[in-house]
Amino acid sequence: MDRQGTRERIEELARELDFLHGEDHYRLAYRYDATGIKGRCGGVAFPRGLDDLLMIVDACLERGIPLFARGAGTGFSGGAVPGGDGIVISTERMNRILRFDQENEEVEVESGVVNQDLQDHLAPIGYFYPPDPASLKSSTIGGNIAENAGGPRAYKYGVTRRYVRSLTWIAPGIGLVSSPTEGGSSLLVGSEGTLGIVYSARLSVLQLPRSYGTSILEVPGEEEAVRFALHLMSSGLYPCVIEYIDGRTMRCVGEYKLLEGLSGNAGYIFLEIDGSSGEVEEHMGLLARLCREADVRMRSARSGEEREFMWEMRRAISPSLARRGVTKVNEDVSLPLGRLGEAVSFIHRLAEELSLDCYIFGHCGDGNLHVNIMTDRRRTAEMKRVELFVDRLFRRVVELGGTLSGEHGIGMTKSRFLGYRFSPAEMELQRRVKSAIDPNGLINPGKYFSGGSEECS
Ligand SMILES: Cc1cc2nc3c(=O)[nH]c(=O)nc-3n(C[C@H](O)[C@H](O)[C@H](O)COP(=O)(O)OP(=O)(O)OC[C@H]3O[C@@H](n4cnc5c(N)ncnc54)[C@H](O)[C@@H]3O)c2cc1C
Repeated sequence: MDRQGTRERIEELARELDFLHGEDHYRLAYRYDATGIKGRCGGVAFPRGLDDLLMIVDACLERGIPLFARGAGTGFSGGAVPGGDGIVISTERMNRILRFDQENEEVEVESGVVNQDLQDHLAPIGYFYPPDPASLKSSTIGGNIAENAGGPRAYKYGVTRRYVRSLTWIAPGIGLVSSPTEGGSSLLVGSEGTLGIVYSARLSVLQLPRSYGTSILEVPGEEEAVRFALHLMSSGLYPCVIEYIDGRTMRCVGEYKLLEGLSGNAGYIFLEIDGSSGEVEEHMGLLARLCREADVRMRSARSGEEREFMWEMRRAISPSLARRGVTKVNEDVSLPLGRLGEAVSFIHRLAEELSLDCYIFGHCGDGNLHVNIMTDRRRTAEMKRVELFVDRLFRRVVELGGTLSGEHGIGMTKSRFLGYRFSPAEMELQRRVKSAIDPNGLINPGKYFSGGSEECS
């Protein structure tokens, strides 16, 4: 359908549905995500519950209007960026926690519930929901499911998929599907919003640990820090969080939080152990011994406030990097644990060769490295070097047995690299699954299978 035709249909629909808005300020505000890529949005719907959601999805599918689910727009691969003047379905008003079932350690939520709000709801009753992306203060459960989000605690607790027991979602041409994730609904987890729209989810939750031990370790040397993290993991230590932060990133955080004494030449490990107080004490003792033996400096939180401060430092990474450049090119590769050290050295060398400002950190217990280049989109010569960097990074990661994305997804930004990772036969298989479920290609088009960059300004 041409653009004019789509616009007219959306305007007509907006007169019927009071939760659909076609005014310019909505269309402008909802046409991007955390990548800063701007798409083309024809209108924004704010369903207040299942009935509204069914109504808007049906209306779009009947009229051939593309639709794009959106949680909080914190995605780092352009997944929620609309195209083709389609309708953005924002889940922000579907934000109710529907039920908590203590006997079965389960909670049921609408997909627009913000991860942190769920944690705040569960904590006073002694529970938590383990997947905790660093964006948890804004990102939604629906977005977390669509991206199969991980987070700092993934080393011990795993990622989103492990906690999704069942989903209620809208499948194009089929309608409402409400089923456990042992069946076809499992396809929705990690499908990046390309197969259907999640209304609600039943999630398993765990009892809060009684005690925590939190430390920051300073290791002389970047690759050495990664190797030391692996040494800790193979020495009987079982942290819930084990994060690598390179020296340049830590220096940036130090400047942002006005801290001194953080060295640009060292590598850092942010680590937390949880469990009963006996378990935590035992593991902190083991950690202290392993650090002494390796001559690694260990600073541990002595109070709840100090623990909170260390977490604030971890969460300050993204805002502190924002001061280093107007454009952040953020790749989140994932590697087999044994190749992480090699990958870190390769990335630093490559950035130096191409004169790029590069920062590496990530959930290294889970094999994830976030590789950030701070630059400025307007510097065209530098952007050409950034493109070369990204291309060589992905080629090398795949050679080392890794993947293009640990948790941020493929979306728009990485689809052109999928051929490095998947054979044509594998790509064809994925295309067939997509077209079996969404034959008219109306659910989040321009993502994963095709870059969709032509939609962007
Ligand atoms: C500072 C920062 C830190 C981050 N840290 C992490 C991290 O530690 N771990 C991690 O995994 N990610 C992280 N991310 C990336 C991002 O937060 C996650 O991908 C998150 O899961 C996206 O949630 P969202 O609600 O913002 O989704 P959006 O960005 O709005 O959408 C993401 C995708 O989900 C789809 N979607 C959203 N809601 C639905 C629904 N109801 N039904 C179907 N599809 C839907 C969209 O179509 C889109 O494809 C971080 C991002 C930022 C900005």
